[in-house]
Amino acid sequence: MHDSESGSSASHPAAVWFRRDLRLHDHAPLRAAAASGRPVVCVYCLDPRDFASTRERGFPRFGPFRARFLIDAIEDLRTSLREIGGDLIVVRGTPDDVLPAMAREQGWASLHFHRLVGTEELEVERGVARAFRDAECNIDTTWDRTLVDPKTLPFGLDDLPEVFSSFRRAAERHARFSRPSPAPGSLAPAPAGVDPGELPTVAELGVEEPTIDARAALPFPGGETAGRSRLQHYFWDADRLRVYEETRNEMLGADYSSKFAPWLAHGCLSPRWVQQEVERYEDDRVRNKSTGWLTFELLWRDYFQLITAKHGANLFRPSGLQGLPVPWQHDEVAFEAWRTGQTGYPLVDANMRELLATGFMSNRGRQIVASFLTKNLGIDWRWGAEWFESQLIDHDVAANYGNWNYVAGVGNDAREFRYFNIPTQASKYDRRGEYVKLWCPELDLLGRATVHQPWTLSPMEQQMAGLVLGKDYPKPIVDLDESVRRVKRAWEAATGC
Ligand SMILES: Cc1cc2nc3c(=O)[nH]c(=O)nc-3n(C[C@H](O)[C@H](O)[C@H](O)COP(=O)(O)OP(=O)(O)OC[C@H]3O[C@@H](n4cnc5c(N)ncnc54)[C@H](O)[C@@H]3O)c2cc1C
Repeated sequence: MHDSESGSSASHPAAVWFRRDLRLHDHAPLRAAAASGRPVVCVYCLDPRDFASTRERGFPRFGPFRARFLIDAIEDLRTSLREIGGDLIVVRGTPDDVLPAMAREQGWASLHFHRLVGTEELEVERGVARAFRDAECNIDTTWDRTLVDPKTLPFGLDDLPEVFSSFRRAAERHARFSRPSPAPGSLAPAPAGVDPGELPTVAELGVEEPTIDARAALPFPGGETAGRSRLQHYFWDADRLRVYEETRNEMLGADYSSKFAPWLAHGCLSPRWVQQEVERYEDDRVRNKSTGWLTFELLWRDYFQLITAKHGANLFRPSGLQGLPVPWQHDEVAFEAWRTGQTGYPLVDANMRELLATGFMSNRGRQIVASFLTKNLGIDWRWGAEWFESQLIDHDVAANYGNWNYVAGVGNDAREFRYFNIPTQASKYDRRGEYVKLWCPELDLLGRATVHQPWTLSPMEQQMAGLVLGKDYPKPIVDLDESVRRVKRAWEAATGC
């Protein structure tokens, strides 16, 4: 119901429900609330369902690193809102309980929020809509998850291409990138006497406190302030955007890629603002393949958001978006070896140990370990996706489940059985074995020729390298060639692909 209909007076607040949009810049709901001239109430709900366990494997949905990031981001948002006259009320509870109760108590005239994709996220939105059905409060929602304005694409969601390159070409030719809007300069304060609530600690959320590992690519502090500093560093101070296309496949260090993903996933950075900075960089410094490649990656991000909106629950089924009846294995022992970095394949193990110790892994690493799990071990891709969901600081339902579908071969662009050849990847992306040695220090004394294949060492060579295979470092849990042949045979028999 609108104000004119409800007759609500100007003292009735406009409320903003913050979700995965923990920022002030480019925030249409916040701007709408500020522009209403009403007192602005900002709310974040700590929904207990977000801190439950994953469906198949029972991992905590929010692992330690993401929980830490989230609390930092909420705290940063609260500080920023206070600087412009507002505040952030942090409440524990489900949005469909919390928001209507607050609306009744404070007489909200309107509730503004961003829509999300993902079946559970949509269910939450439906729950809120139901709870407000008879309330005298106008609901105003905005889409903000993509760089591209979906309305400017030459097709509707139902006709969204199943192949990324078709989407990209159409986006580049026809679509408009929305421009970011500035943060509001001030907010009319919320009604007096509302308790903003204490921020919980990670432990109070029921999540284990993260341990800081000095080898982490970045400490990843949460929040808009830290996200903007990261962009300032990567684009402007370190001037790394100009070489992004050449370095993006590396695995070692802070600056081979932007590392924007955790801030984008939590909405601390808006993709439209990042793109605006890319264009400013192109005007001020250089426009080259690398600057174009960052936009290209943002379009991959958009694509998975839209694919998730299109396919809904199919994204989560074992047969994936394509509905391919792959006979996935559920081998607990092999999965545990993969999860903890004990497969006997140093490149896989180093990446899995980095994820476990820090909550981050490079894009190259993610593709390699996902291929190993699904194409060498033949294990259900959802087990891997759930582990990523639990561990990744940048977990985003569309990007995570969309990419897992893709690498497992049951999602977009699924053609024949494709896999990553581990020795080739090692020789291309960690030629000197530096990355592997950082995360598998037991291989420290091995030379370039053997660091990626310790199983080829004779007992004498093992002794000289201070290493006993099967004791200090595992023997390979499968034979690479034989395992891929076996999984391929089963795959082809079941799918006919
Ligand atoms: C199995 C698997 C799971 C993944 N899960 C996630 C996830 O949960 N959350 C997530 O943000 N990304 C995910 N990715 C995509 C990608 O690996 C990360 O976005 C990237 O590694 C983050 O590092 P960066 O910010 O330095 O990326 P950069 O290389 O600097 O790229 C810039 C931005 O583009 C976007 N981007 C780049 N590649 C992709 C891609 N393939 N799909 C979607 N967006 C992309 C990200 O927002 C990223 O921050 C996954 C990839 C794989 C193969």
